[in-house]
Amino acid sequence: MIQIQQIPVLQDNYIYLIHETESGETAVVDPAVAEPVLTTLAENNWQLTYILNTHHHADHIGGNRALKAATQCRIIGSKADAKRIPEIDIALQNNETITLGKYTLKMIECSGHTLGHIAFYLPEANALFCGDTLFSMGCGRLFEGSAKQMWQSLNTFKQLPLDTLIYCAHEYSLANAKFALTIEPNNTQLINTVEQFSQLRANKLPTVPTSLHQELATNPFLRANSAEIRSTLNLQAATELEVFTELRKRKDVF
Ligand code: ZN
Ligand code: FE
Repeated sequence: MIQIQQIPVLQDNYIYLIHETESGETAVVDPAVAEPVLTTLAENNWQLTYILNTHHHADHIGGNRALKAATQCRIIGSKADAKRIPEIDIALQNNETITLGKYTLKMIECSGHTLGHIAFYLPEANALFCGDTLFSMGCGRLFEGSAKQMWQSLNTFKQLPLDTLIYCAHEYSLANAKFALTIEPNNTQLINTVEQFSQLRANKLPTVPTSLHQELATNPFLRANSAEIRSTLNLQAATELEVFTELRKRKDVF
């Protein structure tokens, strides 16, 4: 059985621990810092097997060295970005897999936020660990990649089963919602979600993970076909990529 534990750290980051009960193998996704990971491992009596890094930004790799020194775990990241992942041991190419006990984690390339950004997909748990690529009601900023690359990456995620859970690396939902509401103010699912998420945040509860199904209904960056979005942007006849590109531009200055 797979157990996933969410650790909120820093301002708004989430670190995820993935534990496979039979083998005892445990992975941590994007350890921004080491200390809370070590504490959670100790509380559960878990041994760290792997660090999984989605990309090279400090708030995703900051705990690499200390965790490796403390646990002798192995560090897994993108082959394309191996030079920027501290102490990487296993460099994966697109669609390559690693195992956690009897379960398989598949690496999915998703450049855009950075070049060499990757996600980890665990089908048995319906779980996608997507770092800073897809957020609830938003997507990552384009620091290195093009709008086209990000668009393609998000389209890859769209092919996954609808009940896939989106374990993104930041609690950005309410800030993203403010922008989404200016773009698609009559989307009732969006309005309902914002209400529900506002209550969760008021009680200091996470809004993450959401599901692909939920994001397809509320996330403007996955909804370039929406008539309302196209009308807001005055891009009725544009391609989906053009709509997406304009959305990303507007969000950058929102
Ligand atoms: Zn980042
Ligand atoms: Fe980040």
